[in-house]
Amino acid sequence: MFKKVLYATDLSESSLAIVDMLPDFKCLGIEEVVVLRVINLTRIMGISGFDVNAYIKALEEESLPKLREICEKINGMGYSAKLIPPPAGDPVGEIVRVAKEEGVDMIVMGSRGRSTVKAILLGSTAEGVVRKADIPVMVCKNKVSPFSRILYAYDFTESSEKVKGYVKFVAKSCASKVVVAHILEKGEIVEEDRLDRIEQEFGEEGIEVKIVIGEGSPAKEIVRVAEVENANSIFVGKGKKGILGSTSDYVIRYSKVPVFVA
Ligand code: AMP
Repeated sequence: MFKKVLYATDLSESSLAIVDMLPDFKCLGIEEVVVLRVINLTRIMGISGFDVNAYIKALEEESLPKLREICEKINGMGYSAKLIPPPAGDPVGEIVRVAKEEGVDMIVMGSRGRSTVKAILLGSTAEGVVRKADIPVMVCKNKVSPFSRILYAYDFTESSEKVKGYVKFVAKSCASKVVVAHILEKGEIVEEDRLDRIEQEFGEEGIEVKIVIGEGSPAKEIVRVAEVENANSIFVGKGKKGILGSTSDYVIRYSKVPVFVA
């Protein structure tokens, strides 16, 4: 399911920290890690008299030794690293394009990059990639080992059903414990049969599962339950028709642990 992944890095401290998390991804059966840095031209667009070619060349020269070092580290973890010569352009578009061209199964990236503005919870590249990619994206935060205890946000919708396959795969591959969080909004009542069914479904596959029912705003409750339950990652569906919904958007921003969005 996750043979080949793309690791996107702007070489910022926070995105480099993700490399140290990669050994925790081993249980997913990943074989190849495509390493990509995009030379961001959106920052310099419109500056008159700017020598774009010299800028690209300087950043290429700056990137390559660092990217080679990252690849060596990744190879040392038992993966096969593939260095992509840094393309120049818009990071969101380039990350999505390379992911497609390389046929990767997932994009792994940070929630923030170079910006030092603390108020920014989710950078524009991360947000753009989550919106545009049609494959799962793991938005990493801090250096949390993501798969020992995962929270699966389940609301019976098609998009959360779709994530179930990934949750099961990860739980079986990484022996994760799963907390299924189902949040009731105002006026909703518990659909016990459906929750019993999912508990049984996971149980039959040998996955240890705990059902937690919350009440209130789904987005806030998912983040709260994840904290209370000490989840190490949150798995959410993207939203209707693959368009990022407000719940997932909030969860990606406010979660303190990595978020897997599909
Ligand atoms: P941002 O959204 O720009 O704050 O950055 C969030 C994450 O997106 C970073 O941690 C990187 O994983 C990725 N990223 C940002 N800019 C680039 C870039 N130029 N090339 C590759 N990945 C990037």
